[in-house]
Amino acid sequence: MGADRPAGTHDAEGAGDCQALSMRPGPTQRQVPTRSAGGAVCGVSAAPRLEPGSRVQFLHGIGPQRSRDYERLGIVTVEHLLRHYPRTWLDARRFVRIGELRPGELLTVEAAVHSAAAVRARSGRSDLIVALKDGTGTLGCTFFGQPFLARTLRPGVRVVVSGELDPFEPRMTNPMFEVVEGDIEALLHVGRLVPVHALTRGLTARSMRRSVREALDAIGERVADPLPEDLRATLGLPGLASALRDIHFPEDPAALERARGRLAFEELFLVQMVLALRRRALAEAGEGLVTSTSGELARRAIEALPWALTAGQQRALEEIVADLARPQPMQRILLGDVGSGKTVVAFLAALHALEAGHQVAFMAPTEILARQHAATLTRLALTVGVQVEALTGATPAAERRALGARLESGAPVLLVGTHALLEEKVKLPRLGLAIVDEQHRFGVRQRALLARKGVIPDVLVMTATPIPRTLMLACYGDLAISALRERPAGRGRLVTRIAGDEKFPQVLEFMARELVAGRQAFVVVPMIEEGGRMEARAAEVEFRRLAASRELAPFAVGLLHGRLPAEEKQRAMAEFATGRLHVLVTTTVVEVGVDVPNATVMVIESADRFGLTQLHQLRGRVGRGEARSVCVLVPGPTAGVQARERLETLARTDDGFEIAEADLRLRGPGELWGTRQSGLPRFRLADPVRDAERLEQARDQARARVEADPVLGRPVNAALREALLAGFREPLELALGG
Ligand code: ADP
Ligand code: MG
Repeated sequence: MGADRPAGTHDAEGAGDCQALSMRPGPTQRQVPTRSAGGAVCGVSAAPRLEPGSRVQFLHGIGPQRSRDYERLGIVTVEHLLRHYPRTWLDARRFVRIGELRPGELLTVEAAVHSAAAVRARSGRSDLIVALKDGTGTLGCTFFGQPFLARTLRPGVRVVVSGELDPFEPRMTNPMFEVVEGDIEALLHVGRLVPVHALTRGLTARSMRRSVREALDAIGERVADPLPEDLRATLGLPGLASALRDIHFPEDPAALERARGRLAFEELFLVQMVLALRRRALAEAGEGLVTSTSGELARRAIEALPWALTAGQQRALEEIVADLARPQPMQRILLGDVGSGKTVVAFLAALHALEAGHQVAFMAPTEILARQHAATLTRLALTVGVQVEALTGATPAAERRALGARLESGAPVLLVGTHALLEEKVKLPRLGLAIVDEQHRFGVRQRALLARKGVIPDVLVMTATPIPRTLMLACYGDLAISALRERPAGRGRLVTRIAGDEKFPQVLEFMARELVAGRQAFVVVPMIEEGGRMEARAAEVEFRRLAASRELAPFAVGLLHGRLPAEEKQRAMAEFATGRLHVLVTTTVVEVGVDVPNATVMVIESADRFGLTQLHQLRGRVGRGEARSVCVLVPGPTAGVQARERLETLARTDDGFEIAEADLRLRGPGELWGTRQSGLPRFRLADPVRDAERLEQARDQARARVEADPVLGRPVNAALREALLAGFREPLELALGG
């Protein structure tokens, strides 16, 4: 370990920073740190040295232009550069003689340059052709478009090249190469596990590796380790310095795996710390209202329902009601597939809060859904004489003012709106319960905003996105979970079929038969860019095509997409709901919540472009009534075999959790929710599925640490605190003051 570190860097045992400084080689002169950290106490008035916070420009070969290139990768400081982990590593460790080279494998040879000549290709491009010899044979190397390499690869120079042999000639094309100067151990670009970093225009793999090497040597030992020493000792994790060295330039796969494991743990641990701190802060706050009632209102409402609650609904309600009765603010998520009956559970919980004289806010991700929820809740509330108020973009100003005044007076109202309720200046001084539909679009920030409305309300988030347990823990570890797993009785079967593009006419005929029988159908057009103009255009084109088709001639076809004016969206939805429209051509705006039990057919075009979870949610729009429903997935013309196989998962199973796990494995967590809206943390090395065990460890360790040191004031936690505030300031405002 560490054998490949050039002498002169400050690794001398016990030498301390001052000595290291005096041993520093040449480049130090041009290094002007922008920030001085701990080491500056040295009394030596030597040239300032590179610090972790110094800009990358102070590294060799990085001028203003290149530093702007780095900035595009989010790399500003030298420490950022070290945190730019490789995407992958090429195993070029097999050294052979030229005579032993075989095609089909990444192999490495050490040899001398025999000759090098630039040749002009017919395209006008100049290539460099180099002949290498090692006593067992001659190897030709062609470097496309790089005649300037002749200056480096001069006859007599010893080089190491790694590459694959051409199957027909003793030749390599564009092999990786490196001139051997000193120790063969110190190779960066060949003959080792070669790191492959993500690049951007202006940066080359070689320059990146050299800069990373230089940064490691200069500051690798001085980057503050967010993992406290006692924690590392307990878990047997390597320190940050060696992990950074090994993630970029591992000596062997074991060293790489140790480094990856440690850095992945760090990512998971930081997120778990955020969650644990928030959890603790909320529990401490204790400012929540205590909702303790006889439950009379809810009981009456349950009696008035035309059906009985499922066992799952009953259990979830009990869990929620128990939380409401505690002074600590509830943080609970209600998981359940589309149509599993979450809304009723939320409504009954709301009744408990209202009965206690508290206000309730019910928030949906879109206007359409907010209005739909308002309608559903108004209907449900009729039986118990509770008033439901809606506040959306369409609410007239006068009404808005009157409602605002009532709310500000603390009247117990069930208020329905979009997530914009959070941003609005709506005053809810007696907000006891906030219900948030579709949590996966609901970020940490919004939760913090909510807490500022006055008292800290109990929060119930509902989502139909079946979140795999592993990811749940990784991202929402601070939430308690209630799950609805069974579908309410009285639902017809939902069958999913896959039909190639060429079968589209038959699909339309089938649809027409259902329509004749009085049913309705959705046609979902492929997702292009979410909510974008292209998608709207595609929907319009498809709408015109279907409206003009022979099969659908006798029926009324409507159009719904996100770019339509609000009233038109509204009208399309209403007309489809009342049955005036038979077919609705739509984009993914129907994904969440739209409830038309008479719709029994859904055709999803270019289905391969969607994630499995999203398809599962989409198809949940049908099969809500008693009749049998059919969802037809039509893969796009370019869909490959794999894409079709992926779709088979949906035809095979109806279990949302299984689908979510499959999606997570296939596409990764970022894709699953679209990281940006969801506020989900981005992991670079950690993989919640593969690192499930690590994740649990991280959670346990985080909770224990917060218990022992709630504001992270102890010196051993200082670097951890810094790292958390640097990476997660917003979500932590709540926990660490703010
Ligand atoms: P989700 O919000 O989970 O998608 P909803 O709450 O909208 O599901 O419920 C879907 C439909 O099922 C609604 O029409 C609702 O009235 C009905 N429903 C809810 N619970 C039950 C139940 N226990 N038995 C029968 N139908 C139910
Ligand atoms: Mg719903």
